Amino acid sequence: MRTKMLAALLAALLLFTPALAAAETVVTSFYPIYLLALNLCADLPEVEVVNLAPPQTGCLHDVQLTAGDMRALAEADVFLVNGAGMESYLTHVFDALPELPVADASAGVELLPSLTGETPFNPHIWLDAGNAMAMVRNLAEGLMAALPAQAERIAANRDAYLARLEALDAELREGLADVARRDIVTFHEAFPYFAKAYGLNVAAVVAKEPGDALSPRELAELIETERSLGNPPLFTEPQYADLAAQTVAAETGAAVYELDPCVTGPETDIPLTYYEDVMRANLAVLREALGAAEE
Ligand SMILES: [Zn+2]
Repeated sequence: MRTKMLAALLAALLLFTPALAAAETVVTSFYPIYLLALNLCADLPEVEVVNLAPPQTGCLHDVQLTAGDMRALAEADVFLVNGAGMESYLTHVFDALPELPVADASAGVELLPSLTGETPFNPHIWLDAGNAMAMVRNLAEGLMAALPAQAERIAANRDAYLARLEALDAELREGLADVARRDIVTFHEAFPYFAKAYGLNVAAVVAKEPGDALSPRELAELIETERSLGNPPLFTEPQYADLAAQTVAAETGAAVYELDPCVTGPETDIPLTYYEDVMRANLAVLREALGAAEE
């Protein structure tokens, strides 16, 4: 039913959309993929990178495509996605636009199970810089296939970006090698890949669904868990309310810090290093929260 409606909507859009300029269009599903694509497409002549309408929370959990999104996809030369279940609407896109090339950044990435039960796998793969490198390789391959005339420049952008991400990965590994404690408690299941890559332990993930409020019983259980773990630091995210964290902190004396999963950011004048900048800021927060040795 929904597929038929999408197809009808799309047909109507195509009828009434005027002929477009010759420029090629790369569409990305959400902010982390947009950041990778901006780097891969940097200085490509006649190529525009368009991000779909950002959801309120930054992550795509339960997001549906808008008419504007479908219009952007109908005009796209290639659609770059995170994969691993992040874009729950993807089958509708395949049905409505069977000719549209789709590049899946998660291809070949080792996936962790999801804690939410919504999807089989945890889709927050980009928070491991090593995974981000695999994602860049996958997206570059999809871009080069879709825009063969630009393949050489895309490959050069890819290699330059991979060198930066490799340096970031080494810096994160080194920066967290000497911390005094390794347990963290987070409020959205965004950080398991980061924790696995850099030797931390996600001792508890509080809100199963981003932004969900906790019942009094869940809150009481969380306070109990937090105490039993020896009050490890609590990490909230700028995209989500931190009421539960503040309550647990008030009850247990645990410290509250903020980690940014990089699902939102500036919409214009975006620094190409934005992902690296956010990851380095997260590293500094973690070193403080987990008790790194003084330099
Ligand atoms: Zn998420």
